Formats: sequence, structure tokens, C-alpha cells
Amino acid sequence: MAGSIKKNLEIIQEKLSFAALAAGQETPPELIAVSKGHGHDLAREALTAGHKIFGENRVQEAASKWPGLKEKNYDIELHLIGPLQTNKVKGAIELFDVIQTLDRPKLARALKKEMAASGKKVRLFVQVNTGEEPQKAGVSPADLPAFLEECQALGLEIEGLMCIPPVAEEAAMHFALLKKLGARHGLKKLSMGMSQDYEKAAALGATHVRVGTAIFGPRS
Ligand SMILES: *Cc1c(COP(=O)(O)O)cnc(C)c1O
Repeated sequence: MAGSIKKNLEIIQEKLSFAALAAGQETPPELIAVSKGHGHDLAREALTAGHKIFGENRVQEAASKWPGLKEKNYDIELHLIGPLQTNKVKGAIELFDVIQTLDRPKLARALKKEMAASGKKVRLFVQVNTGEEPQKAGVSPADLPAFLEECQALGLEIEGLMCIPPVAEEAAMHFALLKKLGARHGLKKLSMGMSQDYEKAAALGATHVRVGTAIFGPRS
């Protein structure tokens, strides 16, 4: 369906603008096009439509898709939105501009060490497990203050917070909690909202939404 990705991007940008405006937000959130589960052909279609900000949840998949595309499009901004193992930190820092899933001291130390070694600075978000789900990554809200202090002690600059609400719960509750936590710690950037709820997130102060299906269609 040639052209449909362009159309989808336009529609979503428009909805984000309306939602943010209606809620009195100064600017709409940045739209991260989540290209996981799709080949580089669809990513290229979004690039051709002028889109620059992308998200992937696996280092390995991203490494097979993006280096070639980045070579031809120097201003691509690539976000890692899935869990990061410490043995993949080197590759992640080489490839990504933003890592949204910092959630434990061991990973913080590995990131610090690898950024120092490579000389590349990656922007960092801390993932918060707002629903306190045992199977889900992220720092629990109760542990967030201590973890942010640890990051600070390491000299890691944290730009914002990210959350993935539990599927069976009202997302707005979790977006509101993330916003409150951000405000409490002076963190202005909030990555929240996906295909099902990006408008809600925009209305509740998201600065970044992560949208896959609504742009690229279902993943195989
Ligand atoms: C896959 C994924 C998304 C995008 O999900 P859609 O429902 O396809 O929009 C957003 N955030 C994270 C962390 C994801 O893993």
C-alpha cells in the first residue's frame, strides 16, 4: 500500500497536535515511529515521507536494519525502547541516540563505562514499572528516587522517564503517575503512549509517544 505510511504519519501528527492543544500543552509530543517487526522497506517508506525519529526494541534487529539507512540519512534519531542486556551495551551505544530502558544499577554502570570508552554520549530515559508488574522491566516507583541518585552519582545525565502501562488497566492512570514522578524529580521528558492511547498520553503531557501498529500496520 504505497503512500499509506505517509498518510498514517500525517493523521497521527494531526491527532497529537489536537490532543496537546486541547489539553493546553505548548507543543505536541515527538512521534517515535516504532519499526520493530518490520523490514527496512517500511522504515525506508517512512523516511521517504520525511520522518526522522524511530524506535526499535531489540539491539540485534536494529543492527540488521538501521546502519545502512543511517548512512544515507544522517539526521535519523533512533530510540531503544526494549530491555537492554549489559552484554549488548556496546552495540546499543554505537547504534542508538536515545536509550529509554535504563532500569538497574548494573546497566547504569555498563552504560557509563561504555560511553566513556567510546566517547559517544547517548541520551537516557529511565523506565518506570508503574504497574509494578513482576514480569515487566523498569524501576518500581518506590525505588526510583534511590536509582536516580545512583545515576547522578555515576555522572549519568537522565533526560526523562518512560513507562509501559499494564494492558488490562486504564493507561491514563499510569500516564498521570509518570508525569507526577517526572515533576517530582525535575525530569521534563516523558515517553508514554502507544498506538492505542497516544492521544490520551499527549493530553496528559507526553513529550514522546511510541507508535508502531498505527503507522506500519500489524507485525507478523
Ligand atoms: C512495540 C512497542 C511500542 C509500539 O506498540 P504499538 O502498539 O504497535 O504502537 C511502543 N512501546 C514499546 C516499548 C514497544 O515495545
